[in-house]
Amino acid sequence: MLVRGIMAIIVLFSTAIVSVTFLIDQPDRSALKRGDHGYGTTPLSKAPPILQIPLTKRLHTAPSGKPQAPSIISQVLRARPGDTLAGMLTRAGINRREAVAAIDALRKHYNPRHIRPGNKVRVEFSPVPLSAGLGRLQGLSLSPAFNRQVIVTRTSDGAFSANEKEKVLTSSLVRADGTIKHSLYIDGLKAGLPAPILVALIRAYSWDVDFQRGIHPGDGFEVMFERLHETDGPAVFNGDIVYAALSLQGVRHAMYRHTMANGDIDYFDKKGRSAKKTLMRTPIDGARLSSGFGRRKHPILGYTKMHRGLDFAAPRGTPIYAAGNGTIEHAGRNGAYGKYIRIRHNGTYKTAYGHMRRLVRGMRKGKRVRQGQIIGYVGTTGRSTGPHLHYEILRGGRQVNPRRLKMPSGRKLKGSELARFQSARALIKRDFAGLKSRDDLADAK
Ligand SMILES: [Zn+2]
Repeated sequence: MLVRGIMAIIVLFSTAIVSVTFLIDQPDRSALKRGDHGYGTTPLSKAPPILQIPLTKRLHTAPSGKPQAPSIISQVLRARPGDTLAGMLTRAGINRREAVAAIDALRKHYNPRHIRPGNKVRVEFSPVPLSAGLGRLQGLSLSPAFNRQVIVTRTSDGAFSANEKEKVLTSSLVRADGTIKHSLYIDGLKAGLPAPILVALIRAYSWDVDFQRGIHPGDGFEVMFERLHETDGPAVFNGDIVYAALSLQGVRHAMYRHTMANGDIDYFDKKGRSAKKTLMRTPIDGARLSSGFGRRKHPILGYTKMHRGLDFAAPRGTPIYAAGNGTIEHAGRNGAYGKYIRIRHNGTYKTAYGHMRRLVRGMRKGKRVRQGQIIGYVGTTGRSTGPHLHYEILRGGRQVNPRRLKMPSGRKLKGSELARFQSARALIKRDFAGLKSRDDLADAK
C-alpha cells in the first residue's frame, strides 16, 4: 500500500439533510485557494475522475413482498459537448417547466452555464406509471468543485430550494520515490506520481533546476504529497506536495512545505530559503538609471519609440550580473542590441542584457549561470549613444517593466518563523520516513 497515514479531517458545515448524495467529478480545486499564488500547489485543474457511480440506483424500494415500483429513483446524467443543464434534464424526460424551476433554485449556488462535458448531475424523480418520461422531478445535485456539493430538493409546497454543502474530506500522505532513467516526468509517473503533482514539482523546482539539461540518468527523486478522500464516497483528489527532494549529480535539493504565521504557504530548503527566487531588478553595481521603461524619444532614431527595458549608465567595463539562476539561450551579437545575452530562468521568465563591451569567456548558449555571476561588461555596442546596460525582463516572451513586476519574494525565514519552519520540517521528515517506498514494499515480499 502506497497510501498511509491520516492527517486531518477537513470539515464543513452542512445543514442540508437530504436523501441524495452527490455527484460530479469536476475537480476544480480553485475552491481550495491557499493564500499563496498557487505556486507549488497541485494545479487545481486535473484531478482524475475516479468516481464510479452506478448510472441508476434505487434509493428507496418498497418494503419486501412482491416487487413494486421504487418510490424514488435516482439517475446520473452526464453532460455531452454543447449540453445545457436544461437540455440534459429535458432529454432525460423531465418536464421542461420543472427543469426550469429546479435550475432557477440552483442558480443561487451554481451558474448553470458552467456545466461542461463530462460533468455529472444526479437527478431524483418519482416514477409515473405508463409515462414514457422520468416522472416527477424530486431533486437534483451536482458538485461544482471537488469539495462542494449543491443540492436541489422539492419542498413541501411543491417548489424547489437549493442548499450548498462542503464535502467531508480526509487527507492522507503518499510517498513516491525513484531513480531517473528517462526524465523526471516519465519516471515520476512510473513511481506512481500523478501528472498534476509532477507538473507542480517541476514548477516548484524551476528556479533552481534546468529540466532540459540539469537532469541525468541515475539522479533520484523523493516526493510526499497529500491525497484527499471523500469520506462518504470513492472520489480522490490530489492535494499539495508536502516534501520533495531531487538528488542531481550527487547534490541533494530538498524542499519542504511550510505554512507561515500569516497563513501564506510556500516551499523552503532546509535552511529556510524560499524555493521561489526573485530576479535582480538592477543587475549591476553603482549604475544610474538613465532611461526607464515606456515611450520616449529615441536618442538615435529621433522619433518616439517604446523603450522596453531599463538603461543603466555606468562606466565602460562595469561588471554585469546574471539576474537569477538560469540557462543562456543567446550569447553574442544581436542587431541593435550589440553584444547581448539572454538568460532563460524558468518556463516564465527570461532576462536580456544589451550593448555589452564584451561577454565573459565561456558564456554561450546552453551554459547554466547562477544569480549574481558576472556574465559580461558594460559597453556601447549596437545602437547606443554611450556606455550603458540595456536590461530587459521578459515574462512569457514579452518585455515587462522590471520596476512594476510582482515577483516571488525570494525570502529567507528568520527568527521565530525559522524556528516554526524547523519544527514543521522535523515532522515532515518523520512522516516521510514512516511511509514505505515501493522498493521497501518489494523487498518485504
Ligand atoms: Zn535601452
